[in-house]
Amino acid sequence: MGDFSYHPANGFYVFGSGDDSRTASVNYGQKPVKPHLSDRLHFHLLELAHRFFFNSDASLAPVYRALSRWIDASVFARTLLHLFENVGKQILLRCRQCGDCAIQYVAFQCPESGCPKHIRNGACGGSRNGRCEVYPDRWCIWYRAYQRWASVHRTDEMIRGCVPPRKWELDHSSSWLNFHLGRDHQNGSADFARYCCARSACSHAGDGLCSGQKQGELFT
Ligand code: SF4
Repeated sequence: MGDFSYHPANGFYVFGSGDDSRTASVNYGQKPVKPHLSDRLHFHLLELAHRFFFNSDASLAPVYRALSRWIDASVFARTLLHLFENVGKQILLRCRQCGDCAIQYVAFQCPESGCPKHIRNGACGGSRNGRCEVYPDRWCIWYRAYQRWASVHRTDEMIRGCVPPRKWELDHSSSWLNFHLGRDHQNGSADFARYCCARSACSHAGDGLCSGQKQGELFT
């Protein structure tokens, strides 16, 4: 067993206790550094925006859906919205316009611009002391995600299910429209996406299910 134990001294680890790692209480190997104030403000701002504008359970969700339908029908309105979205998300997230936004899984950071490997569903395992394997001058985006969740005592968000793969056909389209019109990974249309949504903090999953998905209708 010792032959396989090559982790660095004082490394940072997350592990569950008990048989089911999804429901077991979580232990952390090392207390993380508190994120900078600007990082926490960025996190809270985007989480708030997400809760009000990108949550199918929000009271105004039907309004956003109707508005999105109207915008989507006009090339001019669609282009204008995409431009506006792109400028805002460039400033806040260095958005790469993947069209299938997944910032909610990485504590409201962009996995496309923040991780050189574009990994959406967990750290690659190559980071050292919280530093990125590809660019050691940067913090690993998942290390920063943990710090953000830890600052609000919600680290369990990081083990709430798996993250569905990106829908590549949406590349360079408006992720806002894609969300509200049920075109992105959160619409539960693909088996794997439905499986993941049912187990994660999907914005469409107010009752633990994705939009359009019925109780008991899970990936098998
Ligand atoms: S739309 Fe894609 S590229 Fe843009 S912020 Fe969201 S995850 Fe990142």
